[in-house]
Amino acid sequence: MIDVAIVGAGTTGISTAIESKKLGVENVAIFEKGESYLTTIRKFYKDGKRVDRDYKGQEVTLKGSIDFCDGNKESTLDLFGSLLSSNQIDLKPQTDIERISKTEDGFELLSSGGESFKARFVVIAIGKMGQPNKPSYAIPLPIRSLVNFNANSIQKDEKLLIVGGGNSAVEYAYDLCKTNPTTLNYRRSEFARINDANAQELQKVISSGELQTKLGVDIVALSEDSGRVCVEFADSTKETYDRIIYAIGGSTPLDFLQKCKLELDEKQTPKSSEIHETSIQDLFIAGDIALQSGGSIAIGLNHGYEIAQEIAKRLKN
Ligand SMILES: Cc1cc2nc3c(=O)[nH]c(=O)nc-3n(C[C@H](O)[C@H](O)[C@H](O)COP(=O)(O)OP(=O)(O)OC[C@H]3O[C@@H](n4cnc5c(N)ncnc54)[C@H](O)[C@@H]3O)c2cc1C
Repeated sequence: MIDVAIVGAGTTGISTAIESKKLGVENVAIFEKGESYLTTIRKFYKDGKRVDRDYKGQEVTLKGSIDFCDGNKESTLDLFGSLLSSNQIDLKPQTDIERISKTEDGFELLSSGGESFKARFVVIAIGKMGQPNKPSYAIPLPIRSLVNFNANSIQKDEKLLIVGGGNSAVEYAYDLCKTNPTTLNYRRSEFARINDANAQELQKVISSGELQTKLGVDIVALSEDSGRVCVEFADSTKETYDRIIYAIGGSTPLDFLQKCKLELDEKQTPKSSEIHETSIQDLFIAGDIALQSGGSIAIGLNHGYEIAQEIAKRLKN
């Protein structure tokens, strides 16, 4: 059981971890879907980019212990890298958290790789830059609207192909096959990454014939076929569908929040209290993802500090 599980090793997530440690909370872990910390800064800041503390004129008085000041991309990466190592923070890279569920004694975090972690408190600090993983082959322009990464656009009776082998793909498949002719395609023939409940549901709909499967074979190309999607498989077969849903890891921040069942406001921003607690008790949200607009490194650092104070207080009681 982790005391504080933080999703996202951006500046906000790292601040939450450091401030928690400073307050004596030892059992802290950060889950990060990228290969290392500060994925947003590594990916979206140009080399040598100036990093302003008062970003876009937002003047913020820092409350916590992190001495963040004007610098550049490289000095910012160095600062947060050395904070992680000097505070011996347990960083779990390449761990894409797919959902967080409330349990009797805290939370369960599920990764797209099928791992499960338990935590007493969770802090979501995933930023706003996340995107679903896309296939390596081209998606031709005329069929782009029919190739989706969530189930939001599906129409009744459309013939569907779900692609993927993790919990999300399997859940889409067994739900959607009740309303639509549905096939599940996975490049492997075994579903090794799904939880037991999903494995049972999957088995049921396959045995009853409600769900068709195309397993152990990759897709090699997509093309248009009279306004529908023609899928070419590596075994040289072809089939045409009305719509394809890829669930091959990654997600938009909004999809993630919906999966975690957080209450959102009319602008799709997660509802949170003054102490950054979401509609679910002991589940906090911080940094860019907690804000309707704006956001900066300094704002996220303060969120992390405030959340750490609150969690440390609750852990003592
Ligand atoms: C080009 C550009 C320039 C900017 N310049 C400045 C500047 O000069 N000064 C300034 O203060 N601000 C600047 N900003 C804004 C600043 O980068 C953000 O406000 C800040 O990065 C927000 O931090 P965060 O930790 O909330 O989110 P992020 O930095 O986006 O970090 C989120 C982390 O969560 C990870 N993650 C996402 N989903 C999951 C998941 N499901 N499971 C596990 N991990 C996940 C991501 O990989 C990422 O590492 C700039 C932004 C951009 C795009």
